[in-house]
Amino acid sequence: MSAVRSTQVGIVGGGPAGLLLGHLLARQGIDSVVLEARSRPYVEQRVRAGVLEQGTVDLLKANDLGERLQREGLVHEGLELRFDGIGHRIPLAELTGGRAITVYGQQKVVADLTDARLAAGGDLLFEVGDVSLHAIDSDAPSIHFRHDGADHELRCEVIAGCDGYHGVSRDAIPAGAVQVYVREYPFAWLGILAEAPPSSEELIYCHHERGFALHSLRSPELSRLYLQCDPSDELDVWPDERIWEELRTRFATRDGFTLNEGPVVDKLITPMRSVVVEPMQYGRLFLAGDAAHTVPPTGAKGLNLAVNDVRILAGALADWLASGASEGIARYSEQCLEKVWRVQHFSWWMTSMLHRPAGRDPFEHKLQRAQLRYVTRSRAAATTLAENYVGLAGA
Ligand SMILES: Cc1cc2nc3c(=O)[nH]c(=O)nc-3n(C[C@H](O)[C@H](O)[C@H](O)COP(=O)(O)OP(=O)(O)OC[C@H]3O[C@@H](n4cnc5c(N)ncnc54)[C@H](O)[C@@H]3O)c2cc1C
Repeated sequence: MSAVRSTQVGIVGGGPAGLLLGHLLARQGIDSVVLEARSRPYVEQRVRAGVLEQGTVDLLKANDLGERLQREGLVHEGLELRFDGIGHRIPLAELTGGRAITVYGQQKVVADLTDARLAAGGDLLFEVGDVSLHAIDSDAPSIHFRHDGADHELRCEVIAGCDGYHGVSRDAIPAGAVQVYVREYPFAWLGILAEAPPSSEELIYCHHERGFALHSLRSPELSRLYLQCDPSDELDVWPDERIWEELRTRFATRDGFTLNEGPVVDKLITPMRSVVVEPMQYGRLFLAGDAAHTVPPTGAKGLNLAVNDVRILAGALADWLASGASEGIARYSEQCLEKVWRVQHFSWWMTSMLHRPAGRDPFEHKLQRAQLRYVTRSRAAATTLAENYVGLAGA
């Protein structure tokens, strides 16, 4: 026997997409329940993205989520492209009329959203299991799950599938009802979090014949560093000493760049792929964030796309549930996909320009160098990179 309860919007997944959707809906008087498979400490410590577009920062601040972000977020007005041992600064703010990015870890965004939801008395259940979606093509969809040793049924007007790439929502859609576009890349990223002060104030995207490397950061005490590696690599072939040696080699400059080193506190290999599910809706199920699309992390866009989806979805659902206006939900997928495909292109472009080509194809390598020289010498080409990186307004 299941315990039965009702809500307007059942949200599967308590990552950035699900939590922010719940927050935005609550501010418009719409009731929701967020179901998260993992524990609160796990989601608040999971190291993932960390670059927020200008539009993401503006939205969080406008919705009372900006207090810690304002205090601890690190605003960056430029980034470096490094190749042939020389760094070239792309002045993001100067090229985009003052727009910038903010470095603020995804786990902090999730913790801020969790605090806000619980403080407002919103429903957020951690460690739910056996989640399944039912009757999503009817007017009365429901979510079945286990929590605290008991079976539950959550009856909803709408379900938001915000459960990431490995969630169950996307698979609840019947085969053939949506088209799934996939591009697998022949490389992966080995990412580490190190207790070492950042070696540079800004991000460094480094093209090297041994493979791509990225210098990023999470705070004045924590460096976030990535290396292109083989997708079949396991972590045990990458002991810490090998990682530091490879990072030193790839980041080396003609004028003696010094990489700060320290204890590695997190290490992960992430495959790189692009996925888009089209449309992002089936019946009363709306997909948002990584449940609907993933991008290779080179463009730093995954989290920002998730935020854009739920911004649009929250407005559309509020209009519909409060007054019956259905124009917004009818256009939800089309509106999101415009930005999704722009970002897919940008992420693919950055990935293709910066990574060691499969099979070390020498022709491809020459093309990459030509492109890098163009982007760093032409103001028009640099502006293309800059405006996509900080986030194009309205797309
Ligand atoms: C390992 C990794 C590293 C990344 N690094 C970067 C990076 O460096 N830069 C960048 O820009 N982007 C990065 N990304 C992408 C970025 O983190 C995502 O785009 C972002 O998390 C999307 O948010 P989301 O809420 O849609 O999905 P998620 O953050 O994946 O959240 C989904 C939530 O749903 C929960 N869930 C899953 N299944 C169920 C279920 N059945 N029932 C209930 N809950 C469920 C999950 O536990 C999770 O909390 C990375 C992603 C991964 C996986």
